[in-house]
Amino acid sequence: MNRDPRQQAYLKAMGIDVWVQRNAISTVAAPVVEETASPISRVVTEEVEDFSLSLNDVSVVKSLDWSDLKQQVESCQLCELHATRTQAVFGVGNQQADWLIVGEAPGADEDRQGEPFVGRAGQLLNEMLKAIGLKREQVYIANILKCRPPNNRDPKPEEAASCSPYLQRQIELIQPKVILALGRIAAQRLLQCNTSLARLRGQAHQLETTQSPVIVTYHPAYLLRSPAEKRKAWQDLQFARKHVAQAIAAESGL
Ligand code: URA
Repeated sequence: MNRDPRQQAYLKAMGIDVWVQRNAISTVAAPVVEETASPISRVVTEEVEDFSLSLNDVSVVKSLDWSDLKQQVESCQLCELHATRTQAVFGVGNQQADWLIVGEAPGADEDRQGEPFVGRAGQLLNEMLKAIGLKREQVYIANILKCRPPNNRDPKPEEAASCSPYLQRQIELIQPKVILALGRIAAQRLLQCNTSLARLRGQAHQLETTQSPVIVTYHPAYLLRSPAEKRKAWQDLQFARKHVAQAIAAESGL
């Protein structure tokens, strides 16, 4: 993989050697990077070169500011989705938001416009936010994947793993009072579990990496198909709102 000078400078500054020989003889299976504290941990061999590079990128991404992070995402080629995207969908909103909303992956509208949740599901998300007194501009909205999976298929585990450092860095930069996970896939990928949505709802979970509270609700696209569930989503939103209010009160010593 060719790296631009900026990426190489980051890696050099971190003391990371990125030069992994392509098509090396496949008998060598030694890890090519040192352990990091990243949420991604895999045994890396020369046969999965791009994965090894993604591990290096984890350390680099941890130090990026908003503008470099965005640039990194926009030029990312760590998984196969870069080949089919129109553009990466970085995220949008208030960088100091109390609320971080996390969806699954861009759809066709988002891929075209470069912004998350701009299609029909996005309209419903805006309504859901309005219902709890929030404007879209007040929150930050992002996805587990920054690039659209073809035909809106589910994210593959390796795609979610490659993309995870970007969302992790967004979470570190925002330090939200609550992360609202929309749908099973967002929730399971964030919480690194296989628990059903039904069991994940109704409690505040904690993100292992940043200890941020995560509250889970239905994906708006599901609610469009199953409007009877909107009542439960409303309960989740109230629960999350209470959680944020408590965090604000605790912060101001009330
Ligand atoms: N669905 C998602 O999960 N994310 C989007 O950005 C749009 C639709």
